[in-house]
Amino acid sequence: MFNLDIEYLADDQAIWQEIVSQTLGNITPLMLDLWDVVRTIYLSDVRQKRLTEWTRHMEMKFQVRQPDVWRTEKVSDALRSVVSFAMRDSCDLSFVGRKAEPILATGAFPFNAVSAVCLFSDGLDSLSGLIASIEQHKSGNFVAVSGITQKQVHGRIKKLHKQLEVFFGDRVKSQTIPLYRDGRAKFEGVEEDSQRSRSFLYLALGAIIAKLYGIDQVETYENGIEMFSFPLKPCPEDLLRQSRAMHPILLYRMSELISVLFEEPFRFIAPYAFRTKAEMLGFVKPEHKHLVELTQSCMNSRTGQSCGHCEGCVLRRLSLQYATFDSCEDSYKYDFCSGADPDSKKKDVAYALECGVYRLKKCYGTENPFAELMRISGLEHSVRGELLTATAAVTQTDKSLVQLNILRLYEQFIREWEGIRPQIEFLATRNNL
Ligand SMILES: [Zn+2]
Repeated sequence: MFNLDIEYLADDQAIWQEIVSQTLGNITPLMLDLWDVVRTIYLSDVRQKRLTEWTRHMEMKFQVRQPDVWRTEKVSDALRSVVSFAMRDSCDLSFVGRKAEPILATGAFPFNAVSAVCLFSDGLDSLSGLIASIEQHKSGNFVAVSGITQKQVHGRIKKLHKQLEVFFGDRVKSQTIPLYRDGRAKFEGVEEDSQRSRSFLYLALGAIIAKLYGIDQVETYENGIEMFSFPLKPCPEDLLRQSRAMHPILLYRMSELISVLFEEPFRFIAPYAFRTKAEMLGFVKPEHKHLVELTQSCMNSRTGQSCGHCEGCVLRRLSLQYATFDSCEDSYKYDFCSGADPDSKKKDVAYALECGVYRLKKCYGTENPFAELMRISGLEHSVRGELLTATAAVTQTDKSLVQLNILRLYEQFIREWEGIRPQIEFLATRNNL
């Protein structure tokens, strides 16, 4: 059984004090419970290493202030469906009561006329999406919520926020919440590094802060290729490993969880799920280019020089080039185009994308391209129907248009890949796709 007493993230009390000092909102026992539940799931996830099989069986016992609410079928089912989709684990969930501490201070909100709450990282999509959304909402303030797991990322978000102020005045309010890991409690060598539950922390934090402002939705800014995350990983083992961090089905199920938990409608939306990263960059004007330079996409280094060969780096480079933002390119440790490094592993992402695009193109040559896309998507049969409903909900699009939009998204990605492919030496010498 998972030990609930382990301190792993920074002290929770400090996190709550930070939220309260920034929002001075009415933190409720259910909000505290939600945070404890997602934190417990995250800790269980990182503490149980996946062995030969990807799927684990998780037994999680939560100490909550309102066990009667959590034990209701609709709430526990909604929570289980979130966990099983994002982590691909089976789980037994149980809830026991805990002593409710006094409710923290309440008071006035620091920001007025808040019209939107969004999740904000130091990534490229976050910046492009925020700029696009601010320009669409002609008035009102944006609260950009950043859960910070590394101190250096905090510095970058501060710089981005300062620059956003130059363009948009005080319309963007930065709300950064420290989620630093406690150095005393790292599980060296036994940690599960896939951490498929990490996005629960950000989504729950966004939901709690939105509720404190009386807002019933959280905007997330991520490009569609990374949201749907198929079919660019060709082998079955990799399909299981696909990240579903911001997948439309996860956002849809999280919306359901927050709605049934607090008994009022709530939703996470993803306005740019039908756009590629390069297309999202289209919202960024030339005068914003120096903000792009402040963003970071590397999955191997959040603080130093970008590696150049991870999925984040490859997609960033491809997108910057396609959107003619070449001048904003990072200096990469490894140039995946020249492929000069003898370490062939560094070519893996480019090869995977090449294979993925090859498979995509084959789909488009069939009578029913969408059915073919589904076949290679890595999505279980049982959730393929839900994909359309979920995507329609999180993009606020008519369900009848979802297939067309997904097909268009991947056609666009094929064009972008073909734009950079001739520059990749180890692919350019092979036959065209
Ligand atoms: Zn990288």
